[in-house]
Amino acid sequence: MNTVDYAQQRAEMVRTQLADRGIRAPRVLAALGEIPRELFVPPAQRASAYADGALAIDCGQTISQPYMVAYMTALLELAGPETVLEIGTGSGYQTAILARLANRVLTIEWRLKLLNRAAERLAALGLHNVTYRCGDGSVGWPERAPFEAILVTAGAPDVPVPLVEQLAPGGRLVVPVGPEGDQVLVRITRGPTGPVREELLRCRFVPLLGKAGWAE
Ligand code: SAH
Repeated sequence: MNTVDYAQQRAEMVRTQLADRGIRAPRVLAALGEIPRELFVPPAQRASAYADGALAIDCGQTISQPYMVAYMTALLELAGPETVLEIGTGSGYQTAILARLANRVLTIEWRLKLLNRAAERLAALGLHNVTYRCGDGSVGWPERAPFEAILVTAGAPDVPVPLVEQLAPGGRLVVPVGPEGDQVLVRITRGPTGPVREELLRCRFVPLLGKAGWAE
């Protein structure tokens, strides 16, 4: 399959899976319309790169459904100047979207093999505003806090307290919460009178491991 086919599939994905289902944020639609998702999936899965679902990547992990990526990104309300913390780099696809929409992205991945491959992919795409760290992101990145936006792309048992603490005033944290197979997407906004919690939609993510996550 050639590049033209992928570009067509990408445009079609943005229209039918995102815009038609209510994703309005123009910058988010533009970013998903630009980043070549086929480069983030294993070669054997390339033909399904723009399918309407999650796909298996290496190490038993997954790359999220395009709709979920767009929905979560829209919840962060990025305007451009933000520093974003991402937990769960995985393939790096979501990282690339964030790198297009924010000033700087700090991303933490538990599995070094995935992190290294993601970093290579982003470098190849000329996305250089990303800092990578291998380790437990459930405790955030205290030395680099506070953050205007924090995105967790793995399911936590509960909202990780260290991440709420690392939000800047007005900052947004988006995190799937609950046991595997029964999670809800939660957004915490750090308002003037304390954190405001919204529960948004049911979802399925692989488990967030670590100190404020599930035991290994
Ligand atoms: N956003 C990714 C999908 C990530 S799947 C993408 O677009 O491809 C979830 C990822 O979270 C997995 O790669 C897993 O290894 C990682 N993960 C799980 N627990 C973690 C933790 N405590 N800190 C950092 N990464 C973690």
